[in-house]
Amino acid sequence: MPVSALSVIKSDSPEKWQVILSDLITDPKELLQILELDPPTEEISESTLKQFPLRAPRPYVARIEKGNWKDPLLRQLWPSYLEDQSPPDYSIDPLIESLSNPVPGLLHKYSGRVLLTPTAQCAIHCRYCFRRHFDYQLNTPSRSGWNGALNYIRQDHSIVEVIYSGGDPLAAADRHLAWLTKQIAQISHVKILRIHTRLPLLIPQRVNQTLVDWLTRTRLKVVLVLHVNHPKELDQQVISAINTLDANGITILNQSVILKDVNDNSRILAELSQALFSINVLPYYLHTLDKVLGVAHFDLREKEALRIIDELQKILPGYLVPRLVREVPGMESKTTLA
Ligand code: SF4
Repeated sequence: MPVSALSVIKSDSPEKWQVILSDLITDPKELLQILELDPPTEEISESTLKQFPLRAPRPYVARIEKGNWKDPLLRQLWPSYLEDQSPPDYSIDPLIESLSNPVPGLLHKYSGRVLLTPTAQCAIHCRYCFRRHFDYQLNTPSRSGWNGALNYIRQDHSIVEVIYSGGDPLAAADRHLAWLTKQIAQISHVKILRIHTRLPLLIPQRVNQTLVDWLTRTRLKVVLVLHVNHPKELDQQVISAINTLDANGITILNQSVILKDVNDNSRILAELSQALFSINVLPYYLHTLDKVLGVAHFDLREKEALRIIDELQKILPGYLVPRLVREVPGMESKTTLA
């Protein structure tokens, strides 16, 4: 590990990431102007734009190639007219999470672990997001409202792992996350805190001393799961942020979603696995798309995904090939396809 990675990023004040988060690109015209794109090339979906607006962080947009509609980062955030399609097997709650939501802010899908939603906010609106219709109003309680979720965890001694999930948990203020983590750490049967996030790759300034402090001071074993889909998402600033987390002893994994016209290619996925491994991040899952309304244009046939994994196995050592999985509602774990 380079010596520079052993210390946290000191040049940024703790609030810098919040300033960037409050200055997202939300106007498609501004995005098109920055990227020097011709508006008529791919029409926008005005109806879905109202339901799930454009949100794009500037450090991420800076990595998009100007003038290129096919840029894999742009594909992930552009609210295309294709979102208006509504094939019959797509729905607003494909994983039937509403049945696993016993108290506000908590989902209990698998034994031994529960998922909390500390915030509804995200630094980006990933167009393929399976929670784009999720009832965040019900699931982002105020501080006193968290008692229901905390009591639920206290009463179920089989719960050993708590997962912070999306919205993007790291879009919440550190004060709130440190408080919530402290409450969880006081429950003796909970051993692991897992955090699913895209923030370090969207706004790398998010990895600052305040974050590192509460992540490293808790008695819980912290596992951070990044959601990187394409090697182009890893620029030098992102790598420095990940190095900082790694240098502070945080276990880091990655999961991706296989997306048509973004990363449906063994060469790209091999490059991603190798890039992640070079910064001590292990590729973990490669998810097939959850069939939520508005995302059908990202879908890839399962046969094609299996072919790509087959090719990956020929290119990479086994430990760098992520497990291809699908989430099937009602199953006790993810279903492994390869
Ligand atoms: S919850 Fe995660 S996948 Fe969904 S929009 Fe937010 S960052 Fe993207």
